[in-house]
Amino acid sequence: PAQTMEELVSLCKRRGFIFQGSEIYGGLQGFYDYGPLGVELKNNIKAAWWRSNVYERDDMEGLDASIIMHRMVLRHSGHEATFSDPMVDNKKNNKRYRLDHLLKDQKADVQARVAELMGESVENFAALVAALNANPAQASQALRDAGVRDSFSGEVGEWTEPKPFNMMFKTTIGPVADDESYGYLRPETAQGIFTNFKNVVDSTSRRLPFGIAQIGKAFRNEITPRNFIFRVRELEQMEIEFFVVPGTDEEWHEHWLEKRLKWWEDQGVPRSKIEILDVPKEDLAHYSKRTYDLMYDYPTLGHEEIEGIANRSDYDLGSHTKAQGELGLVAKVEENSDSIAKLTIPHPETNKPVVPFVIEPSAGVDRAMLAVLSEAFTKETLENGNERIVLKLKPHLAPIKVAVIPLARNKEEITSVAKAIKAELQSLGLGRVLYEDSGNIGKAYRRHDEVGTPFCVTVDFDTVGKGEDAGLVDTVTVRDRDTLSQERVKISELAGWIQAKLR
Ligand code: ATP
Repeated sequence: PAQTMEELVSLCKRRGFIFQGSEIYGGLQGFYDYGPLGVELKNNIKAAWWRSNVYERDDMEGLDASIIMHRMVLRHSGHEATFSDPMVDNKKNNKRYRLDHLLKDQKADVQARVAELMGESVENFAALVAALNANPAQASQALRDAGVRDSFSGEVGEWTEPKPFNMMFKTTIGPVADDESYGYLRPETAQGIFTNFKNVVDSTSRRLPFGIAQIGKAFRNEITPRNFIFRVRELEQMEIEFFVVPGTDEEWHEHWLEKRLKWWEDQGVPRSKIEILDVPKEDLAHYSKRTYDLMYDYPTLGHEEIEGIANRSDYDLGSHTKAQGELGLVAKVEENSDSIAKLTIPHPETNKPVVPFVIEPSAGVDRAMLAVLSEAFTKETLENGNERIVLKLKPHLAPIKVAVIPLARNKEEITSVAKAIKAELQSLGLGRVLYEDSGNIGKAYRRHDEVGTPFCVTVDFDTVGKGEDAGLVDTVTVRDRDTLSQERVKISELAGWIQAKLR
């Protein structure tokens, strides 16, 4: 695995996985662009998720809801009121920080001093942040008295009182910018699922338990985007809302925890690198009855969230439904007089309408990219003493499955065979197969090691009967990324050979 974030960032830029957004104008913080290989890897991760969670189950439907949503959706979901982080400004340079991030950036003695001034302990970090947030005047005094330093300049800052900052992007809809004509870019894909619950049930005749899966972009105006693609403002999520009979929710929560850990393992992210955090009651989000956060051990960052698996109880459907009073809701919801739909489904035993509980596994695509790349990243010393970087990606995730290389790029008899092989392998539907004639073969191998191409197929003079060994006519060399073994395979058997290896 990668040892530092830096070596990943460098590989991603050098080989065309990930670029800074709007780079030619100096870059835009918190936005990244996925390059030629990044888009393939990302698509492969999403496809693997969709295959496992939709196609391989018979209790799941897919959805692709719109990104911009009616402001009522985000009001009744609770996001208008609570989707905020406390932030503080440094008056000296007008820089703004998320309070918990600022505190994490401080030396241990400064953190301890802040805690002492607030009558809290650093060990219970969440309680300390909560205390700072709840007592703005005392908090700004404590930050000053403890000598809290600016994260970037390193100088002691002059801190304002913490204020909540809503992270939703708001946008004008239509030609008139009046008080009513606005909507939000969704901060999570989940709300599109809840608002379509009735549509999906009515059109598919689903009964409990069943789920709806969705992959798509979400937007959060993070105060301090950082750590490469770990914390960005435009992100992509892979989310499931799994609807269950109330009372069976805890069992299903465990089911999904197990399923998701297994999935990460199948993508090359082992269980031993993921800590399961049973989120303490006082840190739970407003909708959650219980949440497991999967904390992957990222290079440089250490254990940070890669996926949250929440028991959202009947909070969401209960918040978006009309006739809340008649439904015996368990969650505490705000009154809703705007919704025109009753979000219930018949109880499978009694047939009485019930608002189901929801288990939500929610994973970030960008954080998945980072984890998958990090686990695959390998530095090896070869027998001849040379060092190589190789991405040992699972074959189903590799951006390029096979590179077909003609040993001489201007010998028609060789290039035509290589092109025919490329066309045949491409037609198998494995993903990208690349015809590669960009230079010397050693360089091509090195490049394909670094981007994780499982196989390189070389067409040489022997293949076309112009070499020394007549026994090698109509065969090619297949080089294995991981073992570096080179095997001669008959062209007529190549497709089957590759298919078997990539399965
Ligand atoms: P954090 O505490 O790290 O801000 P969160 O608890 O707000 O994350 P959730 O709201 O649970 O995150 O979102 C579900 C998933 O979406 C996360 O597990 C993560 O993979 C992804 N995610 C959330 N915010 C971001 C972001 N700013 N950049 C990249 N991925 C994100």
